[in-house]
Amino acid sequence: MDDHELGRERAQRLDDAAGVNLRDRFYLPDDLYLDGNSLGPLSTDAERSLQRVIDEWRERGIRGWTDGEPPWFHYGEHLGTRLAPLVGAREDEVVVANSTTVNIHTLVGTFLDLCAESNRGQKIVVNDLDFPTDHYAIRSQLRLRGLDPDDHLVIVESHDGRTLREDDIAAALDEHDDVGIVFMPSVFYRSGQLLDIDSVTDLAHEHDAFAGFDLAHSVGAVPHSLAESGVDFAVWCHYKYLNAGPGAIAGLYVHRDYHGELPALAGWWGHEKETQFEMQLTYTPARSAGAWQIGTIPILSAAPLAGVLDIVDEVGIETVRERSVELTEYLISLVDERLPECTVGTPRDPDRRGGHVAIEHPEGYRINEALKARGVVVDFRPPNVIRVCPSPLYVGFEDVWEAVEHLREILDEGAYEQFEERGGGVT
Ligand SMILES: *Cc1c(COP(=O)(O)O)cnc(C)c1O
Repeated sequence: MDDHELGRERAQRLDDAAGVNLRDRFYLPDDLYLDGNSLGPLSTDAERSLQRVIDEWRERGIRGWTDGEPPWFHYGEHLGTRLAPLVGAREDEVVVANSTTVNIHTLVGTFLDLCAESNRGQKIVVNDLDFPTDHYAIRSQLRLRGLDPDDHLVIVESHDGRTLREDDIAAALDEHDDVGIVFMPSVFYRSGQLLDIDSVTDLAHEHDAFAGFDLAHSVGAVPHSLAESGVDFAVWCHYKYLNAGPGAIAGLYVHRDYHGELPALAGWWGHEKETQFEMQLTYTPARSAGAWQIGTIPILSAAPLAGVLDIVDEVGIETVRERSVELTEYLISLVDERLPECTVGTPRDPDRRGGHVAIEHPEGYRINEALKARGVVVDFRPPNVIRVCPSPLYVGFEDVWEAVEHLREILDEGAYEQFEERGGGVT
């Protein structure tokens, strides 16, 4: 048996030992789908929960709001309750609503207003590795309050262009005494670094600032304990690791201490549910995270999540995380062994790593194109990062091994050279 066959056999043994394999529940559009950190694939479970809502719409029409299973009127709260254990929150602290960007607007806006009311400063600490939409939304919330974003956004700089040190966040807090909010990602979208949410929250609180997090790249892959950590607010999306579909409704968490506060972006869907249909022109916020809903819940964009949560409940988020760590560990070891010309940009300590691995190569863009042409779906993020995501619900060790073998061949054959240099468009 040659090395190649030995490698495959070893991967197959790891798959056998792993046990969990729900691949049959997913529709995988390509041979190797390793891009679930960008858009998770459709599952039969999500398809079924979406179909149920379509059936209810067909058969009950408007009565679906009260007679759906669950009633559509409470769908946001219902899914919030089911999501709460995934993020370690109490049931009334989570709701599904809006999009992630809109949730950043309303929550950062709300907490900026709370800063003003409590005579805190209104500077917001972020970092230079953030996903751009987070900065766009925060800047506009500052502008709307007449605050100059260039003065009020404190951007912590990464020392290596990949990761952020908690010490550097601490230094920014020491330097600026008028910080009101620290807003950070749980997992960085490019390098896959996992921040220590507990210590960042403690740091913020020691400096009398609120702690908010963007969990887009960790929810469904990494368990959280937001309430116990004392996190003040958080946002996330469901179309990445939670496979709820393109543009699926997003999620948010607000600590109980702030229930009853006025949301920055209020709408009737966030009104106290019991009296919402009394149609009063004065707004009474729901005394739960539900208050941060805005307009009518898009049921068709929420329904697939119900099915996905059945899968996650079945496997358990702790098991998902365990398997994810094993898969990324294995991937990193293969890159070390088989791809010496590439650099692993993701922290090697599993406690510092989310669910994907950043493989760096100067020709990353064209290599990604060559992989796609072979039916291996990963993605590229400038300037040089190929992100590979072995999402444990439907990716196994043998898939990871195969993806690395494809990379080896592409590099050996210079197969990426036939692709054009980077232009525009979705990557
Ligand atoms: C994916 C992602 C978003 C997406 O925001 P949308 O409003 O859903 O487009 C926001 N922030 C981070 C960190 C993300 O990874």
